[in-house]
Amino acid sequence: MNVHDSEKMAGILASEGYSPAESHKDADIIIFNTCSIRDKAEQKFLSELGRLKSLKKNNPGVKIAVAGCVAQQMGARLLSRAPHVDFVLGPQNLKLVRDIANDATGSSMLEDNPMLAEEELPALRKEKGRAWVSIMYGCNNFCTYCIVPYTRGREKSRPSESIVREIEGLAAEGFKEVTLLGQNVNSYRSDVDFPGLLGKIDKVEGIERVRFVTSHPKDFSAALIEAMAELPSICEHIHLPLQSGSDRILDLMNRRYTYDDYRAKVWLLREKVPGIAITTDIIAGFPTETEEDYQATVRALKEIEYDGIFAFRYSPRPGTGAASMEGDVPEDVKLDRLQKLLDLQDSITIRKNAPFEGTVQEVLVEGASETDPMRLAGRTRTNKIVNFTGAAEEGALINVEILKAHKHSLEGRVA
Ligand code: SAM
Ligand code: SF4
Repeated sequence: MNVHDSEKMAGILASEGYSPAESHKDADIIIFNTCSIRDKAEQKFLSELGRLKSLKKNNPGVKIAVAGCVAQQMGARLLSRAPHVDFVLGPQNLKLVRDIANDATGSSMLEDNPMLAEEELPALRKEKGRAWVSIMYGCNNFCTYCIVPYTRGREKSRPSESIVREIEGLAAEGFKEVTLLGQNVNSYRSDVDFPGLLGKIDKVEGIERVRFVTSHPKDFSAALIEAMAELPSICEHIHLPLQSGSDRILDLMNRRYTYDDYRAKVWLLREKVPGIAITTDIIAGFPTETEEDYQATVRALKEIEYDGIFAFRYSPRPGTGAASMEGDVPEDVKLDRLQKLLDLQDSITIRKNAPFEGTVQEVLVEGASETDPMRLAGRTRTNKIVNFTGAAEEGALINVEILKAHKHSLEGRVA
């Protein structure tokens, strides 16, 4: 979501005549787009920001802005703590980047924006084949560990015509894949609900792949599973964050489902969409998590056999429900549980990837591989990363023969 917010800010600046600088030293405007989901991201930003003090001293004309969730959370305090910052810009007010470009004087832009869902902002996208598309903003769920409802405000859905218009434009530019963005896409509602929106997007000529993040398990409906089974463009991959395998912890997290509810949905999904890849998010060391709770998560990973997980050590966020809970889990225990979950998942992922060896997979080419610039990289419909040899255009859909399965990727050659 933040990557796409950055694309929108760059799009607005481009429409004002600006272009991306080679380095921050050559820039007229520097914008930090910040994340406060965990403390580590926030600390990293604060130390980067400190480094720009001397740059501002040598070049007082450069405008420095802080956007995103840390900006929203710290607000005007940032301006007094770091006087070299000129603007503070919350995630609901991206369009005000225009004011920075137009030489407005220092201010903070943090108000609730009731018109957010009606805005159509240009985006400067770097990739040629796949694009992010916002379908809704904010979140109403208040999971007790999470800062998002406080920084991104209440849920607002974009009108379906506006979304479809943007996607038709992307198809005309040659994009083949879109990923729909929202904190809880399953509660999307405008003139249609989320399965209805998918039905409309599926009809857009030229868009061969549709993905979406993130789905909240409590709202993951049978109607959505039907839509995924029936609509040809919807990719065979779902990211469905479980967070914990313990019902006691899920309740404390205010997730509003039990492990059994979750598992029943996964089994139905696997029955209706054979071969679907499933990934998840897990938090290790939520307040009061016992060895028994943690073992429930271990059992869940073994039972569901995800294609991959994103696991995090619980990080208390100021002002959230969990931050004031008793029963902090010691840092070394959190770390130990996290590492064991990651190791367990690695062994599961490698087992799940092995059957791909010898098959031919449709891959959307993303460009040079990150691990080896001599090779290309892309993704299967099931969202597996494939590094491969042979010639292909960025943004093309091609067939790749899979020669080897690894833990975090597949390896192959153009078929
Ligand atoms: N909206 C999505 C959902 O409902 O699952 C995800 C939102 S969040 C940006 C992405 C992931 O970060 C969450 O699924 C959770 O696992 C993790 N996360 C959020 N807050 C956290 C915290 N305080 N400490 C550790 N991990 C956290
Ligand atoms: Fe955070 Fe929960 Fe909303 Fe996801 S659904 S953004 S985890 S509060």
